[in-house]
Amino acid sequence: MSVPLVTGGEVTYAALDYAASAPALQRVWDDVAAYAPYYGSVHRGAGYLSQLSTELFEQSRAAVAEFVGCGEGDQVVFTRATTDSLNLLSAALPTGTRVYVFESEHHASLLPWRGHDVTYLDAPRSPEQAVATLESALHGAPRGPKLVCVTGASNVTGEVWPVRELARAAHRHGARIVLDAAQLAPHRPVRIGELEVDWVAFSGHKLYAPFGAGVLAGRADWLREAEPYLAGGGASRKVARRDDGGVDVEWHTNAARHEAGSPNVIGAYALASACRALTEAGFARLVAREEELLEKLRAGLAAVPEVSVLALFGDEADRVGVLSFVVDGWNSSHFAAALSAEYGIGVRDGLFCAHPLLRTLLGQEDDAPGECGAPDAEPGERSLNAVRVSFGAGTPDEHVERFVAAVT
Ligand code: PMP
Repeated sequence: MSVPLVTGGEVTYAALDYAASAPALQRVWDDVAAYAPYYGSVHRGAGYLSQLSTELFEQSRAAVAEFVGCGEGDQVVFTRATTDSLNLLSAALPTGTRVYVFESEHHASLLPWRGHDVTYLDAPRSPEQAVATLESALHGAPRGPKLVCVTGASNVTGEVWPVRELARAAHRHGARIVLDAAQLAPHRPVRIGELEVDWVAFSGHKLYAPFGAGVLAGRADWLREAEPYLAGGGASRKVARRDDGGVDVEWHTNAARHEAGSPNVIGAYALASACRALTEAGFARLVAREEELLEKLRAGLAAVPEVSVLALFGDEADRVGVLSFVVDGWNSSHFAAALSAEYGIGVRDGLFCAHPLLRTLLGQEDDAPGECGAPDAEPGERSLNAVRVSFGAGTPDEHVERFVAAVT
């Protein structure tokens, strides 16, 4: 796809904002295009198209279950995206649940727990410190239900978190753990059993399937016992008027309990298609390719003295294809706008829905302006925002090379 430049010419668009939304894989487009003419309602019709759609919706659920390695007693609930999945889980927590979450999380995993008793943990400076911080917060915590929410890979630094070690710490102290895999799932396997987590949440649009579906997968018990996330058709098994004039409802106990309303079958189908495509491509191959690109990117940025790459865990940390930086003397918004206008490169600027983390990384005061009020930077100063570059499956060398050349 070509985009216009301020200079009057045109250039192929370099999509380097996969962390916000990744372009659909060709396989996903093809699968969706092949199915779309046969679209019908799910669980709501006797006709052929409705039966077919119901079958494909449930097959998609099975494909996602396979992708995350669901075991006995696990469920896959289709949602709108990660934000929705984590809000669903928050609504399903037993009364009195204590929640533990690092302040460095994306707002989607930081904020849904408000209303519960939440402990916000300081952003750690190493994977080991993350585990130690969680251990000490859970040590001596009162009895009762507890939930830890952690990110698999940061949407700001791209750093991979020590998920299994955090899960073990959580379980040692009788807590459960949900993995925000929005950024991890497109880059690494997110197998529930291997990571030892209780739930995993991710979004189709970051996993090369931009058709409006997300997932919450994992333990069924709390979900089965909770009030439905949405009340309505599809979630209810039996509804009857009572003699006193009220209504009695018997809710489903499977995933349908939290999927009231007509399901997004195309979204679920696309998501399942992406899961299959990534599994077939093989994560080992995807990771190797991503490392090549990351090396090129980091070497390019290291050669520019004005550039500072943001990191919590340091240079040696394992990271996915997501990297943020600031440039001395530049407001990051202007920098990102220039990349688009002059080079046809699409990146993201801002605070990335992770305001506490950005303030920690940029050393800003808590009352500094938020995303909408970023000040212009003077030469030698830093602005309160950053530039993020991110990539994934199918990113050509030329996009990263053009980016490096533009920054240099
Ligand atoms: N968690 C992380 C780490 C993310 O990067 C994002 C999206 N930027 C979300 C959660 C929220 O995902 P969605 O907007 O698809 O709900």
